[in-house]
Amino acid sequence: MNIILFGPPGAGKGTQAQFIVKKHNYFQLSTGDLLREEIKLKTTLGSEIEQLISNGKFASDKIVNTLLRQSITNLKFRDRIIFDGYPRNVDQAKNLEIILSEFDQTIGHIIFLNVSKDIIEKRIMGRMTCDKCNMSLNEFFNKEQIELHPCGKEFLKKRKDDNFDVVVARYETYMKTTKPVLDYYSKNENFTEIDGAGEIDQITNKINGVLNV
Ligand code: AMP
Repeated sequence: MNIILFGPPGAGKGTQAQFIVKKHNYFQLSTGDLLREEIKLKTTLGSEIEQLISNGKFASDKIVNTLLRQSITNLKFRDRIIFDGYPRNVDQAKNLEIILSEFDQTIGHIIFLNVSKDIIEKRIMGRMTCDKCNMSLNEFFNKEQIELHPCGKEFLKKRKDDNFDVVVARYETYMKTTKPVLDYYSKNENFTEIDGAGEIDQITNKINGVLNV
């Protein structure tokens, strides 16, 4: 079964997705990561994407849907995908249903991590992600873990779009464009809201409870 992890930027979707990946052999499909990979390739498309992301704007549905389709059609990931950062608008939500049904797949759980704007700001401003293992740490809350990070702390990098102005823009975009997806999903019987404000372990336990494991 596929899983959607939904919530505002900085809600902890990426962090929690990593736990599900490790524990249950899932594949994390982060559209943000796919877009950042394209930027790293320094293609024309990559620089177009970079321009949008660095201003807190969305990449076009056409670009994101193309990247998404490549993963959904990969048989290795069949029915084992965690969608992280997708869908981000109602059109994307409808598109996801179309592609999944085309390939005879379904969404088993929609998990909404609910976190307030104050907490999001603190989390995003301190966020560092490892270039090698993709682990996310926070420079304010995880000082020791950063020093002892197994890949070496030099691989822990801050994202360019994790600065105050862009965070505000991303939150506004979320409220305007992504929150309607919540209304679209909240009546679904597979929908669960989880308070995403607590400790990482507590949230992981709650998610595991939902996934019945
Ligand atoms: P994230 O890593 O999920 O925080 O995404 C980083 C940025 O990538 C977002 O602020 C958007 O600009 C872009 N992005 C990620 N996912 C999508 C999507 N599904 N649709 C459009 N833009 C996206």
